[in-house]
Amino acid sequence: MKKHGLWIVLLVLVLLATGCQTTPSIKETVHGENTNPQENTKPQENAAIGTSDWIRGESPVPNRRIGLDRNSPVNIANGENGVYIMKNDYVYYLDDGMDILIPLCGRPDCTHQSSDCNAYVRDGGFITFYDGYLYAFSGDFSEDSCKIVRMDPDGSNHVSVIDLLEFAHGLGGDYIQCWFMTEGYCFFGVVEMVEIDDGDGSDITQHLQGENIGNFYYKIDGSAGEPKKKTVQKELPRGQIYSCGNTILAFSNVPQNGGEYGRYWEWHPETDTYTYLMDMPPSSGYFDDTAGYYHKDGAICRYTYSTGQEEIMTQTGLSGKYHLRAFPDSIVLFTSSEEDFTLYFYNWEYELVEAVSVDGYGKHMEAILIGETADRFLLSGKGGYHYITKSELGLGTAKIHPIEQW
Ligand SMILES: [Zn+2]
Repeated sequence: MKKHGLWIVLLVLVLLATGCQTTPSIKETVHGENTNPQENTKPQENAAIGTSDWIRGESPVPNRRIGLDRNSPVNIANGENGVYIMKNDYVYYLDDGMDILIPLCGRPDCTHQSSDCNAYVRDGGFITFYDGYLYAFSGDFSEDSCKIVRMDPDGSNHVSVIDLLEFAHGLGGDYIQCWFMTEGYCFFGVVEMVEIDDGDGSDITQHLQGENIGNFYYKIDGSAGEPKKKTVQKELPRGQIYSCGNTILAFSNVPQNGGEYGRYWEWHPETDTYTYLMDMPPSSGYFDDTAGYYHKDGAICRYTYSTGQEEIMTQTGLSGKYHLRAFPDSIVLFTSSEEDFTLYFYNWEYELVEAVSVDGYGKHMEAILIGETADRFLLSGKGGYHYITKSELGLGTAKIHPIEQW
């Protein structure tokens, strides 16, 4: 379990970093009476009852169902007809429209509790769906095995695509630290253990991630050959990369006046180069290759990189730091503040569709909304997985439904 804890810590660190900022914190702005979202949870006038007619407006999010692999501590991937979740070294599958999460194993003789189960991935970590196959990272920080494993969408035919530990040993490294698998790429550091003097004359062992050997990226289907070493660019951080719509997003911290501020970049894997997008807004959001969407000073804002212009799309009436997640049909706002356990769903005409309370589902709001399918938003927390049906939104009565686990 230790390894999973570490991965979660790493992801949470990244989450915090995506939300970090050095610009002055938002003022507690009070907006007009009509902007209190709690009062705006009634259905929009022209929203038809019992349908998904609240879905409107022009979305910049690619028209594909997305898991929040870029931002969720839960390891989830979207396949062609359902969702995959890596949990306790087993891959689970939730078929679209079904209410039960099952081990990804079709063998009728299997109890799904042993290492020969199709759903089993030894020290299973990251999971991603790419080009018709499911890929998983298999290996611990210090295990004697560390691979990228490919399998068919039904869990069968496990194939080791690359032995990363062997690759690390070839460079004089001791083990692999996987940062991310996203958009068909695996990002990892080759780590070496080095004895250093702790100042008292006694030696201690330190893990020097990337210091001496470096960070690498690998096209997970093997089509780009051996892993490539990532460019070390002075300002750019190591490993802080995730997928955001049509961009692979990286960010950096720039020292300034004794503090620092953050910057977003798009990473281009073919050339290992970066394009500067914008300075980080006060909270995490959605940043494709054209514009960034985020919540700032009580408003949903859009910043267009080419013009450098920030537009206010709507005033939300929400004061404080709210994070934004963008989906093909909606925008969701939430805060990490323990004063508000609510998911605020907006359509792409920036109208509030419904505010759904998730109070009691967990303290870590980034971990609650874990992804979506065409018809549902998927939630994690309260001892398991749940969902909100999209067609139930907009009526002010959306319910949270449980997902049974095999
Ligand atoms: Zn099985």
